[in-house]
Amino acid sequence: MTTRKRKLLGTILFLIVVSIVVLNLGFFFEKPRGDVSHDDGSVGDTPVGVWDDQEPTVARLDPALLTAVREASKDAEADGITFRVTSGWRSRAYQRKLLDEAVEKYGSPTEARRWVSTPEKSRHVVGKAIDIGPTDASYWLARYGARYGLCQVYVNEIWHYELLTVPGGTCPRMLTDGAS
Ligand SMILES: [Zn+2]
Repeated sequence: MTTRKRKLLGTILFLIVVSIVVLNLGFFFEKPRGDVSHDDGSVGDTPVGVWDDQEPTVARLDPALLTAVREASKDAEADGITFRVTSGWRSRAYQRKLLDEAVEKYGSPTEARRWVSTPEKSRHVVGKAIDIGPTDASYWLARYGARYGLCQVYVNEIWHYELLTVPGGTCPRMLTDGAS
């Protein structure tokens, strides 16, 4: 084997080893992010019902918030509108994953924070916030939520509700977004 061929072979082997190390590092760091489950409050792409007690995202909500949402849902039903819970309670790990994904999607932590809170600040993590869809249900709550004490909190999130007043009370002024 000539020196040149040996060098080439050496370079190829070196590149193979580097690739294996890099790929495994990637796998190692990526893995925890994909690991959230049902028990973390994830419902995947299938929103659940407000009465689905077997769903941790519903069952682990603050009881007062859940009661208010259920009361509202009964009256909305009479108007032909069905509430679906796209997200209620979330584990800290799930909240972290959502924030990491938002940073990737929006390109910076600052922009991501307008849409997704940190595990430390999120009201979902303490069971005090609920995201309701589809759009007609969100709009129904935007209009009538205060009757049940439910308030839209952020101008940019028509789906996100918290128990922020007494039934029939006045909701606090909305914030522009989650970073406000
Ligand atoms: Zn929310």
